[in-house]
Amino acid sequence: MPRHHHTTGADAPGEHRVLDPATGESVATVPATTPGQVGEAVRCAAGAQRGWVDAAPADRARLLRRYACLVDEHIEELARLEVREAGHTIGNARWEASNARDLLDYAAGGVERLAGAQIPVAGGVDITFLEPLGVVGVIAPWNFPMPIASWAVAPALAAGNAVLLKPAEATPLTALRLAELALEAGLPEHLFQVLPGAGPVTGDALVTHPGVAKIVFTGSAAVGKSVMAKCAATVKRVTLELGGKSPNIVFADADIERAAATAPMSFLDNAGQDCCARTRILVQRDVHDRFLDLLAPAVAAVTVGDPADEGTDMGPLISAAHLERVRSYVPSGADAILGSAPEGPGFWYPPTVLTGLGPDAPAAVEEVFGPVAVVIPFEDEQDAVRLANATPYGLSGSLWTRDTGRALRVSRAVAAGNLSVNSHASVRYSTPFGGYKQSGLGRELGPGALAAFSETKNVFISSEE
Ligand code: NAD
Repeated sequence: MPRHHHTTGADAPGEHRVLDPATGESVATVPATTPGQVGEAVRCAAGAQRGWVDAAPADRARLLRRYACLVDEHIEELARLEVREAGHTIGNARWEASNARDLLDYAAGGVERLAGAQIPVAGGVDITFLEPLGVVGVIAPWNFPMPIASWAVAPALAAGNAVLLKPAEATPLTALRLAELALEAGLPEHLFQVLPGAGPVTGDALVTHPGVAKIVFTGSAAVGKSVMAKCAATVKRVTLELGGKSPNIVFADADIERAAATAPMSFLDNAGQDCCARTRILVQRDVHDRFLDLLAPAVAAVTVGDPADEGTDMGPLISAAHLERVRSYVPSGADAILGSAPEGPGFWYPPTVLTGLGPDAPAAVEEVFGPVAVVIPFEDEQDAVRLANATPYGLSGSLWTRDTGRALRVSRAVAAGNLSVNSHASVRYSTPFGGYKQSGLGRELGPGALAAFSETKNVFISSEE
């Protein structure tokens, strides 16, 4: 368990301090996992996995359901932990803990349905089996620690694998608690282990270990590319969930009031630290000025403050360094619609909509990962699609229109993995999620989640005498 103390200062070697982003105070110190300990964890996980896959599918499903129940009983505790280590609003944090529970429930239902196929061939019987990969490494970011870890951990376990989870340096506490609950639920020792530590040390040891069969990496595009390159050395399977610069396309024929009312939280939720944040608001020129007039009061109405307060819409950023990075994207004196943010300690930045930038400005092109969006006018449908696709990313996007034909045409034309029409919803545990282009590789969630943690084996049995 982490040691709790309240001093500030640099990390001692071999451990990480966890800070409360709302106050900057130290919450806990967590020991870092050395590469040698990673090797030992892989060895133990491989042993546990052999027993796990030999257990009856019904028993594995029952254990995962029991684990889901235990997470359910601890939602408030897990949510409070997330508020402290990540600065998430309590409402969001409760959703995040319940998402971890739902993922376990959904995956448990898949254990006994992970069926292969029997394919008609001449001279015998042909069967496919879906077999576990073995030991899976999951490297998670700090922006949604519980959901993103669970998106991989739950289906990987359900498909018969062991899992080693490397949480982000800033947010290891909920992951450690989830691993304790797994043991309490009766999952075999070493089957699911959490290995806190620095990305380039502990994370790298997982990526380069020959005993790890697959890496699921969620994080920045730069690190994702290096992870993918290193996986090539042992042809490790890899799923990448990387960044985004998602468009929110508002056509003149849309319900402009609703589009403007919902636009703020589509990029301010989780203080904009959301890979699906709709940070490029593309507005048809005919309604551009009216949209901005409606957007300004909607931005002003967003409550930024103490994340533990039930009425708060948006909390702080994760760290002082991240705050500086976000600030660097906003040119001084730029035309902007601004919200308010608390003064004083903690890593606060106000909701910011930049209204006068060209489409090539850094804030319009790069992922800011903070509460900053740009508004860019467009002329017609073709122009909207061109602008929407003018990015190396392709994760999410929204479009607002009352024209069903246009909704379908634009949905098919925008190169992104998750689109919503007259809505900003893009993540559900029961539907597939992932990126086009440099937003990622592979898909998580949805009906195919367990197959992503399985190898397909084909066996032909001759019936000849
Ligand atoms: P990051 O890439 O810095 O870190 C992500 C994880 O990788 C952390 O656990 C980190 O310790 C680890 N890591 C860092 N260097 C490593 C290395 N050399 N080898 C192995 N592991 C290493 O990203 P971040 O700042 O924590 O997260 C923010 C990014 O994550 C954003 O770009 C965001 O868009 C992306 N993200 C994507 C999705 C998605 O599903 N597509 C979801 C959430 C976040």
